[in-house]
Amino acid sequence: MKEIGHWINGALVAGTSGRFADVFNPATGEVQAHVALASKAELDAAVASAAAAQPKWGATNPQRRARVMMEFVRLLNRDMDKLAEALSSEHGKTIPDAKGDIQRGLEVIEYCIGAPQMLKGEFTDSAGPGIDMYSMRQPIGVAAGITPFNFPAMIPMWKMGPALACGNAFILKPSERDPSVPLMLAALLKEAGLPDGILQVINGDKESVDAILDNPDVGAIGFVGSTPIAEYIYGRGCSNGKRVQCFGGAKNHMIIMPDADMDQAADALVGAGYGAAGERCMAISVAVPVGDETADRLIAKLIPRIEKLKVGPYTAGNDVDYGPVVTAAAKANILKLVESGVAQGATLVVDGRGFNLQGYEDGFFVGPHLFDHVTPDMDIYRKEIFGPVLSTVRAKTYEEALGYAMDHEYGNGTAIFTRDGDTARDFAARVNVGMIGINVPIPVPLAYHTFGGWKKSAFGDLNQHGPDSFRFYTRTKTITSRWPSGIKEGAAFNFKQMD
Ligand code: NAD
Repeated sequence: MKEIGHWINGALVAGTSGRFADVFNPATGEVQAHVALASKAELDAAVASAAAAQPKWGATNPQRRARVMMEFVRLLNRDMDKLAEALSSEHGKTIPDAKGDIQRGLEVIEYCIGAPQMLKGEFTDSAGPGIDMYSMRQPIGVAAGITPFNFPAMIPMWKMGPALACGNAFILKPSERDPSVPLMLAALLKEAGLPDGILQVINGDKESVDAILDNPDVGAIGFVGSTPIAEYIYGRGCSNGKRVQCFGGAKNHMIIMPDADMDQAADALVGAGYGAAGERCMAISVAVPVGDETADRLIAKLIPRIEKLKVGPYTAGNDVDYGPVVTAAAKANILKLVESGVAQGATLVVDGRGFNLQGYEDGFFVGPHLFDHVTPDMDIYRKEIFGPVLSTVRAKTYEEALGYAMDHEYGNGTAIFTRDGDTARDFAARVNVGMIGINVPIPVPLAYHTFGGWKKSAFGDLNQHGPDSFRFYTRTKTITSRWPSGIKEGAAFNFKQMD
């Protein structure tokens, strides 16, 4: 059986803890590899060598660091097919979707090529008599990223790109469910010129995460994953004095107004609800049509589209709309929630429970489900399902629909479909959610804007990528300077005011 280890000091190394997790091929259900789960001692040793290597990298001029990013982009494009194949085989998503995963990470690396511009400090000439004042952005030192299974290329790159471009060493603890791509990214960064020890990829589970949270040399932690783990990491990391930002789960609502283009809305919902088997934090999982007539028209358009969806392994090529979910446990959890929806009185309009793919009976495939007449007290509404299940909550008015998005504990993304500019503008202004789409179902901001939710979808300050990421991975230092030739005024006993 293939064994997947860690990337430490510029090389692949085997784990020494003796603990492993299974890595599945979700399409067949077979175990395809064992991934090492690092011990606290392994994690601490990797942090120690990262801390030793960091000062030289931090002192490397930002343009040289940016050139490493530039070369990394070239290598990502060169190896796109290889990376996508590895990603799909462990995650299960289709090859075009895997390429999208890599591409949206690559775009953040492209943004990081602008590090020299982003890291420029501020300068005030003659802030007082003979006094200049300036600020600089310095790296934190060693930063760490803990990332989820659902974007094994994009989210590691969202974290490591800005952290490295800012001059930090970086410890990546990727998901143990699809660990191969992060290791391939590390090898490409070495090829691009990143010095050894500056990026360490440590595979593991709670033990290695706890070791990151408690290691005094780790100054900043970026986490992406489910909300309970986000809350835990935020609490423990902050109480250990670290800078922490955690991005959690989601329940994204899409409001469909009576004046919406119903074909456009239905197409958008099918792509956003079922793409990647619903395993996206920006997936739409709740449709909120306004008015029964709108709801009936929408459901009538959704049913044939959903029934036509092609579910299959990534190896079946471009014909497949979505693949399996990541593990048997994920599949069991989704189907349990579907049963709860039926038991709690929702109408299962499209029933994917009997889905079976010939030749892939042991794969983790889940058929598409559509619920109508869902109410806010139901588990399928309250909980993140993270599967191909779309719930419809009927609202009588726009205000009621807005209220559903506002009152839900998650606030990652939301969308409105309408032709009315006033309504769209009102929605964008009032809704308490971080990322808003207007006739756009998955409003993931591009690399030069920032990504982040509100409410229980994010903990801590500053968003991912864009200018916020350069703030998160640096500390500001402000210098007030006067040279001996400046004005001499003797001892000052009052708090100084600049003339
Ligand atoms: P997860 O929370 O199970 O795991 C995320 C990371 O935390 C992994 O690296 C995992 O090894 C680690 N981890 C798991 N249990 C832990 C524990 N008890 N203690 C310490 N560390 C632990 O999430 P997942 O299933 O990999 O990913 C899916 C979740 O991520 C969904 O909730 C999804 O909405 C969310 N997500 C959010 C965003 C966002 O930007 N808001 C983006 C992608 C995914």
